[in-house]
Amino acid sequence: MSLEQELTTLTKKLYGKTIKGCNNSQLYDAVLQLTKDRMDRVKVLDGKRKVYYISMEFLIGKLLSNNLINLGIYDELKDLLEANGKDITKIEDAEPEPSLGNGGLGRLAACFLDSIATLGLPGDGIGLNYHYGLFKQVFRKKMQNAEKNDWIEDNSWLRKTKTTYKVKFGCGTVTSVLYDIDVVGYENGRNKLHLFDIKTIDESLVKKGIYFDKTQIDKNLTLFLYPDDSDKDGNLLRIYQEYFMVSNAAQLIIEEEKTKGHDLHKLDKHVAIQINDTHPTMVIPELIRILTKKEGFTMDEAIAVVSKTCAYTNHTILAEALEKWPLDYLKEVAPQLIPIIRELDKRIKAKYKDESVQIIDKQKRVHMAHIDIHYGFSVNGVAAIHTDILKDTELNNFYKIYPKKFNNKTNGITFRRWLMSCNPELTALLDKTIGTGYKKNADELEKLLKFKDDKKVLDAIADIKMKKKTELAEYLKKKEKVEIDPNSIFDIQVKRMHEYKRQQMNALYIIHKYLEIKSGKLPKRPITFIFGAKAAPAYVIAQDIIHLLLVLSDIINNDADVNKYMKVVMVENYNVSYAEKLIPACDISEQISLASKEASGTGNMKFMLNGAVTLGTSDGANVEIHDLVGDDNIYIFGKDSDTVIEHYAKADYVSKDYYKKSKTIREAVDFIVSDEVIKKGNKKCLTRLYNELLNKDWFMTLLDLEDYIKVKDRAFRDYEKRGEWKKKALVNIAKAGFFSSDRTIAEYNRDIWKLK
Ligand SMILES: *Cc1c(COP(=O)(O)O)cnc(C)c1O
Repeated sequence: MSLEQELTTLTKKLYGKTIKGCNNSQLYDAVLQLTKDRMDRVKVLDGKRKVYYISMEFLIGKLLSNNLINLGIYDELKDLLEANGKDITKIEDAEPEPSLGNGGLGRLAACFLDSIATLGLPGDGIGLNYHYGLFKQVFRKKMQNAEKNDWIEDNSWLRKTKTTYKVKFGCGTVTSVLYDIDVVGYENGRNKLHLFDIKTIDESLVKKGIYFDKTQIDKNLTLFLYPDDSDKDGNLLRIYQEYFMVSNAAQLIIEEEKTKGHDLHKLDKHVAIQINDTHPTMVIPELIRILTKKEGFTMDEAIAVVSKTCAYTNHTILAEALEKWPLDYLKEVAPQLIPIIRELDKRIKAKYKDESVQIIDKQKRVHMAHIDIHYGFSVNGVAAIHTDILKDTELNNFYKIYPKKFNNKTNGITFRRWLMSCNPELTALLDKTIGTGYKKNADELEKLLKFKDDKKVLDAIADIKMKKKTELAEYLKKKEKVEIDPNSIFDIQVKRMHEYKRQQMNALYIIHKYLEIKSGKLPKRPITFIFGAKAAPAYVIAQDIIHLLLVLSDIINNDADVNKYMKVVMVENYNVSYAEKLIPACDISEQISLASKEASGTGNMKFMLNGAVTLGTSDGANVEIHDLVGDDNIYIFGKDSDTVIEHYAKADYVSKDYYKKSKTIREAVDFIVSDEVIKKGNKKCLTRLYNELLNKDWFMTLLDLEDYIKVKDRAFRDYEKRGEWKKKALVNIAKAGFFSSDRTIAEYNRDIWKLK
């Protein structure tokens, strides 16, 4: 059946209408069904060995356009709809964005699923089906408010399956239900994302905002991603979620192995389990428990085979982000795991006296990462510098024991979403200029370098940038009620709000620029500073930074002397759909984390691929971007990671010293608590932030502020050398091939999973 016949049959069946007669939301339903039917016909990937990627988060974004692209029918459908007077982008708008992730880690998991299927590898994701997911951000009185994100509709990509398991907790047993989302690779086969839920979920538990009774596990377990964990019940709920996820994962994996007739004693020959950060760590003791209690394994046999099956990815060196659960909490949630965890710990204590590598510490806390490292066969960091820091400092004691387990897998992004889907104009230009081979082999993007001095190609790239900036300006006008000038420089920082990412440093730059303009020093061209960020609801200083940005935006955008030269926009509820609009429109990509703190970053890669120039520190994958594009095509500033690590080791960073030494710094910091700002904002929040910067500044904002100002001003000046800037954009696109997640996944497969 032709696409037209197929769609017409569906619109008739669902709504008794022709394609022309349907509205956009009805057409969305029909196109969703059509896409699912087409996906059903795609071959399921299989092979001798299969990977299971377990993750608390899958930040998959809307799926329609990506699935259409991967099926190879996007253009045909677009034309068909157009012929019927319909606009495919309007139909895409009708899809709600799944709320199953938080930030980079979850987005990485989503890119990986796309690349695993694209490379034709058998591999499923396993996670949870959060009903309200991560909160929806709403600004009120220049503050972040958190609301439930009600994303699940009757018609969706979720398919309810017949699979259910029992999961036993200390407080009783719950029954799971499995929902699947199909994952089709780009012109390749099909895998699955398995999302577990509980049968007895009760959405009515949530009355206001994101508040609910945290103790009713059998009703609340899959309501939210990262429920507030600032109290004990919140901590317990997290552990309940984690155990629920891995217990289901272990049961599913064992069932699939048995169905295939595989011998569980050879589990490692047929299965690789990738543990995405420490959240799924309990899959190790859970598998050992099942194999010993139900499958007749001895403890030695179970430990040996599980240790050859599980591999761990580390995503952070922030101490507060490395999970250490009190043994008592684990006992309350999953008492049956305690003997196993104690046994794993006993074996380590017998072998190593060094306290820093033990699993259960003196305060009876269980170090989840230590379980992964001792009882997994691979430990990987996510960018070259991050892996080096793990080896040399953070996990050095483990590296000395297991040098061969450590390896690097620099993160990547899928070009299907972050180029082909979000920037069809640039995709078409690339197709015309260098052919389409880069879609399957991202290294071919380098062919673009041949056009570095070709005025026509350089101008075409710049024209596309202008078009995307104009589209964004129109969108922001509707959505955020703010008018911005597409001729201004778009300087964008979008990512989770965290002190280590240093949005506060960007805010201080903005204050500096505002004061300069007030004193008559005008920029050559107006600048639009754009932010997007959610802050964890219990993270007070992060909320305060959002508040400061909203206050600055109010003051600056309404000041007639200044708003001709600069504007500040903080977009509401930054998510994948927003990223897809912001990133293609960016001139300068802000990647300004304190060196050593951002494990990799993936936002930096998306921006580069879309022709933005990075302004960043020598941190995470910025280092590799720098190596690839060279000094002329990136703006690097700030102290390097060695210097920062030394400051921490010596505890000799004193922010007040920097404040006292520099008038520029003083003026910017003091402005936060000036009458002008306090009048427009909340005195308590602003004073708290001011004191934090002056007296603590754990992530060393003031250390790099002056260099940041200097280099950022240079970038703005360079933007005026239009010919040279266009070349920088071209080189960034041409060199982005390395950051395709197809490359990352090929490396995971070559070094860790060995699926084919
Ligand atoms: C890519 C992405 C991130 C990660 O951004 P970083 O700058 O690497 O922290 C976070 N959120 C969304 C919606 C993304 O698409």
